[in-house]
Amino acid sequence: MSNTIIKAPCVNLTKLETLFIEMTAQNCNLKCKHCYINFNEKKVKDFIPIEKVKQALININKEDLKYIYLTGAEPMMHPDFNHILRLCLKYSSVIINTNAVNINDKKARFLRKVEEENNLGNEIIFMISIDHYDEKENDLLRGRGSYRKAVHAIQSLIKYDFNPILTIVNYQNMNEGELINKFKELCLSFNFETTDINFKIIPYIDKNKECEISENIDYDKLNTDCTKSRTLTLNGIFSCPLLSSDNRGKCGSDITDFSTKNYLETSYCAQCSAYNKKLFSFEL
Ligand code: SF4
Repeated sequence: MSNTIIKAPCVNLTKLETLFIEMTAQNCNLKCKHCYINFNEKKVKDFIPIEKVKQALININKEDLKYIYLTGAEPMMHPDFNHILRLCLKYSSVIINTNAVNINDKKARFLRKVEEENNLGNEIIFMISIDHYDEKENDLLRGRGSYRKAVHAIQSLIKYDFNPILTIVNYQNMNEGELINKFKELCLSFNFETTDINFKIIPYIDKNKECEISENIDYDKLNTDCTKSRTLTLNGIFSCPLLSSDNRGKCGSDITDFSTKNYLETSYCAQCSAYNKKLFSFEL
């Protein structure tokens, strides 16, 4: 038996350019087969209080902050979603990571008004989860009806002049170029002209797979979310959305007091660092 002890690599946060706000850890209106969240049997009302968001935004270093992401489970389930969105738009552009079930024409029109109300030029950007260009394949993963709802939401958003990004978990490990071309065809079928920036392909990270951290990666040059962001949750600050319910990802209690060092101890980190691209945020 080898006596080698592999130490978890340490990654330093260079600048807090991105703040993820976990609006709810458990509330979602879908039950996707491949979701990384371990859902409770019972529905819980675990919404982040608006005061906690307000306090974090007051204390954050505004010079460095470039984007705020509203994430979940499903961020639009938060009862104060509109209020928190307006608040965040006073600080930066806001990206909403959503399954889009709650977006229709009326909501898109309303969100267009919300964006126009802020006179700082900050934008609302939608990242819509849809995992396959084929309805049947998508719904096998994300649940019956989810494809139609996502497509309908995309159509509503473009009607009100938004330019959504489609977030695609490459569950079948397809060739990325081919996958994007298929999605481009789908978008063109409802007159949405896209370019590569409209697609974010992410690999499937298996929560049940035991993986060892690789020794063959230059961890000083890592390009993962935890190098530029932190996640604000009901329970404190975490290194990234993937680890927001894992104590090994906890960095501190609030935005005035959190560690900039992050030890990659989990199987998630092993898979994510091997991929070495941002899973949740787009490239700045
Ligand atoms: S899962 Fe990825 S982004 Fe999250 S802490 Fe680990 S290496 Fe960083």
